[in-house]
Amino acid sequence: MGLSSLKTWTKRPLIVATMGAALLLLASVAALDVLIDWQVDAAIKEEAEIRALNWAENFYRTTPSARRMIGQGITTRQEAERLENSFALVGVVRFEMFDDQGMITLLSDMGGPMPEQLFNELALSVHESGEPQVAIVSQTGAAAPEKTYAQVYLPAVLPSGENIGTLEVLVDVSNFRQALQAAFKKTGGLMVAGTAVFLLVPVVIYVHRTRQLRHKDRQLLELTRYDQLTGTLNRNSISQIFDDHFENSETPLNLGILFVDIDYFKQVNDQFGHVCGDLLLQQIAHALKACLRGGGDAVGRFGGDEFVLLLPEISLKDFRCLYGRVMEKATSPKDVSGAIYAPSLSIGAYLAVTGDTGRLALHRADLAVYAAKRRGRSQIVEYSEELEGLFEQEDILKIA
Ligand code: GH3
Ligand code: MG
Repeated sequence: MGLSSLKTWTKRPLIVATMGAALLLLASVAALDVLIDWQVDAAIKEEAEIRALNWAENFYRTTPSARRMIGQGITTRQEAERLENSFALVGVVRFEMFDDQGMITLLSDMGGPMPEQLFNELALSVHESGEPQVAIVSQTGAAAPEKTYAQVYLPAVLPSGENIGTLEVLVDVSNFRQALQAAFKKTGGLMVAGTAVFLLVPVVIYVHRTRQLRHKDRQLLELTRYDQLTGTLNRNSISQIFDDHFENSETPLNLGILFVDIDYFKQVNDQFGHVCGDLLLQQIAHALKACLRGGGDAVGRFGGDEFVLLLPEISLKDFRCLYGRVMEKATSPKDVSGAIYAPSLSIGAYLAVTGDTGRLALHRADLAVYAAKRRGRSQIVEYSEELEGLFEQEDILKIA
């Protein structure tokens, strides 16, 4: 998995969490809207029923001929006027009266025609069950603002307790509805804000935690891949990269290999101290890194004072140019805790080509650095076949 795909992958849970929180918020806003409408309707019905009951009670109390009016629909002019005057108090805009058969007997728009359909099934069922029924009716006029009415069917129960028919009362609840909606919307707004905060807190905690984990992961990765002192790759990592070049090579192999060993490093430690030795290692590592071309180039600390540079897809000309630069930069005088020291390096160079095995390439680069040491240090030796013979001869001499 490449670093960029790793980044996308680690961001995905955050996107999912944020989207989840946003969806939850949207769902809760929609649910809250439905709940508010439902609550408003329930409150309107209750209020309308109370107003209708009040009106009916007042009607029975002040109208001795209530039984006659409901049962037969007969009313005097004075009675009709009194009834209509009583409307304003409780917001009643119309009424209808039904006898115990559900037949309409009287309606408030006196003088107007009686409806064609005289029987009302709902009126009969309310009379029989004794249970009021309320429905909300909205009217949108072209010019006038929307009006809301509650249509209340009440069993016509006289103060004596006798149920003699049904009253239908239309109550104007427009103002009540507006006031309720305003109050509920305000509370709803606060609830949505509260929900948003409630959902946001886990998202913020999640983001913070993910960042912490990612930071820890990066630290762990650095511990496992990099050399802590110099910041270059450690032996395992550079060896893995080396093996990969030989195992997964798709293009013809042209891998420049440099083995860089500091000369007389023990003396540096002895003369300036171990801490200064560490500083010098860091500065040389810094110089080596600065020579890399980018892309697939890599540098790793292979041992105590030994570094390996891997330079894939490099021509012999560029390889030579690059290792010359490495020698120049890494051996330039360095400030080691106040003391100026120009390190000396032995470098073994080998350009591995298609057909080489990793083992062979390693042997040749190693042989080259060994030759540099043997030839007096402070130099670059590029592998050539005669090196093999040279050391074989030396070994024979040693044995003899
Ligand atoms: P040569 O010229 O043949 O390379 O000899 P040298 O003195 O450089 O010593 P050699 O390469 O054989 O051994 C490397 C030394 O580096 C051994 C050890 O004292 C020292 N060393 C290894 N690791 C560290 C480290 O992390 N910090 C410091 N300061 N010194 C180290
Ligand atoms: Mg050394």
